[in-house]
Amino acid sequence: MEKRVAITGAGIAGLSAAIALKNIGIEAVVFESAPVLKPLGAGLALAANAVKAFDYLGIAKEVVRNGKVLPSFTIYDQQGKVITKNESLQLNEKYGTSNLTIHRADLHKVLLSKLDKSSIQLNKKAVDYVKNGDEVSIRFQDGTSYETDYLIVADGIHSPLRKKLLPDSLPRFAGYTCWRAIIENVEPGVVEASETWGTDGRFGIVPLANNKIYWFACLNSTQDNEVYKNYTIEDLRLHFKDFHGSIPAILKKTRNENLIWNDIIDIKPIHQYAFDNILFIGDAAHATTPNMGQGASQAIEDAAFLLSEIKKTSDFTVAFKRFEERRLERTHYITNTSWKIGRAAQIENKVLAAIRNMVFRLIPDGLNERQFKLLYNVSFDN
Ligand SMILES: Cc1cc2nc3c(=O)[nH]c(=O)nc-3n(C[C@H](O)[C@H](O)[C@H](O)COP(=O)(O)OP(=O)(O)OC[C@H]3O[C@@H](n4cnc5c(N)ncnc54)[C@H](O)[C@@H]3O)c2cc1C
Repeated sequence: MEKRVAITGAGIAGLSAAIALKNIGIEAVVFESAPVLKPLGAGLALAANAVKAFDYLGIAKEVVRNGKVLPSFTIYDQQGKVITKNESLQLNEKYGTSNLTIHRADLHKVLLSKLDKSSIQLNKKAVDYVKNGDEVSIRFQDGTSYETDYLIVADGIHSPLRKKLLPDSLPRFAGYTCWRAIIENVEPGVVEASETWGTDGRFGIVPLANNKIYWFACLNSTQDNEVYKNYTIEDLRLHFKDFHGSIPAILKKTRNENLIWNDIIDIKPIHQYAFDNILFIGDAAHATTPNMGQGASQAIEDAAFLLSEIKKTSDFTVAFKRFEERRLERTHYITNTSWKIGRAAQIENKVLAAIRNMVFRLIPDGLNERQFKLLYNVSFDN
């Protein structure tokens, strides 16, 4: 009898997992809480490991076609002096795939195009589950339920099902808040991805396809800060007016209606992703701060590792456990490292910032190289 697999959440993790299952002929049912699928108008950096994972799922070419290959990534100080620079194109050659940027909506379009529309049910917010023997019954907010053999939970950082199984796994605030937007490129066109680590805040710029750019600005803050909640572009313009290069022009070009604001949060690493026939993936399992551009990338890797394991055995409880064994260390490393990078990037004290910049400038190439190797040299078949 064919296995029934249900997925909660039609984000990058849920859709990628559905594509992984489709690779072995299983049509999973995806339950999404939103009434319409409307991804945020934000950009995403997809690191080379994510592109490799898409390749494993058989859809890399289409994703790459919709994105932009990054030539380089530079970190500057507030005055525009280089702290570190990575030539992404050289890394691309070395690791065989590209570091990519993509509009989130374009990525969603590609993922959705690989699935049968009837397999995605909207307006279905999973709020609980009950185990009935070998089956799982998912309970939805609208009072309905759905019985399945296997449940993949991909409903993001606030996952109610994770909170039920692991009540202590609550999102934690990283200490800074962030605005972001996508706009048309400014003159002269921005070509490289960059971050500026100022003592008055951090500003990132990421070029996207079709002459667009994605920018983000992070400020140290208390959680849910009332002042920042009401910040407008004008406030951000004033705040970042002394920053170097295109930053003031980028803010000048952005309209309030394009601004997205949220506090930066993650989940302190948890030590179990597989619970018999229930598996947690993506942000529901290992949400990370965005400082390494690896949140979505790890969600996509999850789908590739899942495919690798379900190809080996018809017992998915075994596959889920093996998945967990292969994913814990890597995802913990990313969450912890990204947390530390965020702390360093958000330093406001001028003396400490100068020391940080000096230390980063002195990091030997070999150490950077080891970090890239660890991130990008991922292999799904073992
Ligand atoms: C400011 C910022 C910048 C980022 N930049 C990058 C980047 O450059 N590169 C990168 O790789 N990552 C980045 N990330 C991280 C990335 O956005 C996430 O890791 C990624 O979106 C996780 O995908 P997901 O599918 O696991 O979760 P989500 O994207 O949160 O998707 C979860 C889905 O489940 C649905 N849902 C929620 N609750 C329920 C429920 N109870 N029942 C059913 N459905 C439900 C939601 O509506 C949603 O569709 C960034 C994050 C932030 C906050």
